[in-house]
Amino acid sequence: MADELAFKRWKSLEPGIRKKLESNVFCRKCGVTTIVDYEVEYTNSQFTLKGSCQKCHGPVARVVD
Ligand SMILES: [Zn+2]
Repeated sequence: MADELAFKRWKSLEPGIRKKLESNVFCRKCGVTTIVDYEVEYTNSQFTLKGSCQKCHGPVARVVD
């Protein structure tokens, strides 16, 4: 799915749910962290968030079922 549509779909989720998912991402350096500046992909009914760790700015990703 095109990124724009994926992003739209992501934005249609409840803000509270999105926030919870954004703030529960695993970073190899920091452990549980918040993802920032991320892109959204949507494939096989799953969102994939790809962005940066809020603490160390390293790359982090999260798959959301
Ligand atoms: Zn980190």
